Amino acid sequence: MKIFIASLATETNTFSPLPTGYRTFEETMLKRDASRRPPTIGTAPVIEWRKAAEADGHQVVESLSTFAQPAGTTIRAVYEAFRDEILGDLRAALPVDMALLFLHGAMVADGYDDCEGDVLARARAIVGPKVPIGCELDLHCHLTQRMLDAATAIVTYKEYPHVDTAARAREVYALCKSAGEGRTKPESALFDCRMVNMWRTPIEPMRSFVDRMTALEGKDGILSISFAHGFPWGDVADVGARMLVIADGNAAKAAALAERLGREIFAMREKAVTPHLDVDTALDRALASKGAPVVLADVADNAGGGAPSDSTFILKRLVERKIRDVATGCYWDPVAVRICREAGVGASFDLRIGGKCGKASGDPVDLRVTVRAVSDGLTQTGNNGGQIPLGEAAWVEGAGIDLVLNTLRGQTYAPDAFSNLGLDPGRRKIVVVKSTQHFHARFAPIAADIVYVSTPGAIPPDFANIPYTKKTVPFWPKVQNPFA
Ligand SMILES: [Zn+2]
Repeated sequence: MKIFIASLATETNTFSPLPTGYRTFEETMLKRDASRRPPTIGTAPVIEWRKAAEADGHQVVESLSTFAQPAGTTIRAVYEAFRDEILGDLRAALPVDMALLFLHGAMVADGYDDCEGDVLARARAIVGPKVPIGCELDLHCHLTQRMLDAATAIVTYKEYPHVDTAARAREVYALCKSAGEGRTKPESALFDCRMVNMWRTPIEPMRSFVDRMTALEGKDGILSISFAHGFPWGDVADVGARMLVIADGNAAKAAALAERLGREIFAMREKAVTPHLDVDTALDRALASKGAPVVLADVADNAGGGAPSDSTFILKRLVERKIRDVATGCYWDPVAVRICREAGVGASFDLRIGGKCGKASGDPVDLRVTVRAVSDGLTQTGNNGGQIPLGEAAWVEGAGIDLVLNTLRGQTYAPDAFSNLGLDPGRRKIVVVKSTQHFHARFAPIAADIVYVSTPGAIPPDFANIPYTKKTVPFWPKVQNPFA
């Protein structure tokens, strides 16, 4: 058997001021042999697919794999070039027995609100109706009927933080394998949950819900269940949460379970909301804590959701309130890093930090700093164990606050984003990270407490007031009962 694998992914924040062009894909991850290389951001699916296919004695044809750090709408020519490269390789590889694609599900390009639906529909036209097409998506996707119509089986991650990308890839492979061998006939059904929100799966009631979904799979003809959380900051008609069920040869059964589970999620909507504290309340709670460190998540400036990662709303209050014994990062500030590297370790001077990308970044903070360390290429551990590059970096200390500044925009996943520079965040009273939830997997073990902080930022968790122009279906929390 011949199995085709490829990936093309980014999460588009259509409200972000930063365009997504070739350079962002190139500096985040762009390879033609990703499955043969050490794991990094966005490569877990192709690595798993190669492993599974070769274990079964099949031939693998690998095309492009690329992933861009989330930002604004993708440049049209860049999207079309990547898409056409993958489709060209697929055509050249014919006949294939299976095509497996890792896409994001919330990618928007100029002229394409549903990039994944576009890729899948074109791939289907190339391979014909019988060849299984499997697709893995981030759970932060705008799941569309167009995607389902084109693919044989779509599976989204179940966990946020996304610690199950490899497991879901194996599931996609298994679903397509059994369908290809004629042992199953996947029938997919979607239920629109009519909600826009963020759900954190290590925390109840979501933890138990994910476990219930998993327990329902593999019996009574239910092949796979995905809760597509949606990505709130995409101005597309299909933005919002969807429940997806794949049943064996029984579309009605899939639809019934999708609706049942979707209504279950809707019923727990209030309980599943994560409380966010304003900056001063969060700082008060951290100062009052007996344990350390208290980890504060600056969720509105998460680069993983397309934010600049240079906002200063929390930093400003730390300085004004003279709060010391703090580590915070990572601030995307290539200018400041350049100055620090030029000055060298041990140098002290006035540095203007952050606040450079727009209103959502706040104002720059001026601080007398000392450079403690610099790096040519800082990395941190991602949620699948691979190393994620953060670019050139500097650790500066000023007013009792240790900051990590970097040149390759990205959210803070792990304590080694600090400790690889020699700064141990576990020994600080307060750690402020720029991340919505991915930090949780590796910071929770060292945290005495975790506090989600609401700042103005580029992706504030204010789901009732995101200025959509294309969504027509009513949704909670904008309306109390969207099913009325
Ligand atoms: Zn995601």
